[in-house]
Amino acid sequence: PLVLGIETSCDETGVALIDGRNGLLAHALHSQIALHADYGGVVPELASRDHVRKLLPLVHAVLDEAGVDAGQLSAVAYTAGPGLVGALLVGAATARAFAFGLGIPAIGVHHMEGHLLAPALEAEHPEPPYVALLVSGGHSMLIEVRALGDYHLLGETLDDAAGEAFDKTAKLLGLPYPGGPHLAKLAETGRPGRFRFSRPMTDRPGLDFSFSGLKTQVLLAWQKQDQQDGQVRADIARGFEDAVVETLAIKCGRALDATGSKALVVAGGVGANRRLRAQLAELAASCGARVYFPRPAFCTDNGAMIALAGLRRFQAGDLAGVDIGVRPRWPLSELRPPAAAA
Ligand code: ATP
Ligand code: MG
Ligand code: FE
Repeated sequence: PLVLGIETSCDETGVALIDGRNGLLAHALHSQIALHADYGGVVPELASRDHVRKLLPLVHAVLDEAGVDAGQLSAVAYTAGPGLVGALLVGAATARAFAFGLGIPAIGVHHMEGHLLAPALEAEHPEPPYVALLVSGGHSMLIEVRALGDYHLLGETLDDAAGEAFDKTAKLLGLPYPGGPHLAKLAETGRPGRFRFSRPMTDRPGLDFSFSGLKTQVLLAWQKQDQQDGQVRADIARGFEDAVVETLAIKCGRALDATGSKALVVAGGVGANRRLRAQLAELAASCGARVYFPRPAFCTDNGAMIALAGLRRFQAGDLAGVDIGVRPRWPLSELRPPAAAA
């Protein structure tokens, strides 16, 4: 089957075409970063309008690149939630219109299931069961993936998500929006050990996270400096990144222990972080496990992961989600395996 995937949950318009046998055929992404930069965050109405402008041209570009005629499609998958309601509706209405016109199903995909399955866009990936670390702008979760739609939550953040912590801390340090990647880049020139921030909640058992206290520690450290120069800022960035990365690694180790799993999958935007990738690779090696990452472009929001999740649901005969509805709030824990959903 040939499935078109459409992602419009936030500030990236993503489109991709996937084939059940040959995998990903084409994908395209338009990021709205420049559009929202002056505001220091995503402006929902501007996001929706830009999706309206960019989505159809991207769909046609992807079909053209793959040399596929819309008439050959088997289904159209779109992000149904969670996300910004106006932005979601653009993708949902477009996908529905295509599907209706072509007489094929439209499949509403859970954005986080998309992130969760993204590692399978790469040639080397594990089959369930495995442990997944999902670290994005809005979520930080450890999940035991038992099968498609069978996601057992092992732990999650009690406050800020890991990506949110990166973004807010970057803002405190005066870095441009969106801060995560900028902070990571700055940390590369920072000296390790100059600033040591806490590893939240690693001193007690459990797999939950808490990142909101770190930004306060960073702010205090920064304010205390008489000399607020570039090197100090980089050193603080390095201290912050090391704290987040080590905390995530400690919890991943515990999750592998607790489940007895030998496979760890990392997904979501923070999965693009180089130090996290290196440290988790080290952790896995030390306990005889393996870690799998999507390429960085498939860690952050993209159409390919939505196409893949749609394909998996389609292949499993799960066409229950064919309403036009979107769900701005949609806990991952409500998902069910395809058989139960039907
Ligand atoms: P969600 O998927 O939870 O709804 P989202 O879609 O906004 O949130 P993603 O697109 O998966 O999140 O990821 C974006 C987040 O990843 C941002 O917080 C960004 O700062 C962070 N991020 C991206 N690259 C890096 C990096 N190299 N290091 C640290 N954080 C990063
Ligand atoms: Mg984004
Ligand atoms: Fe996302």
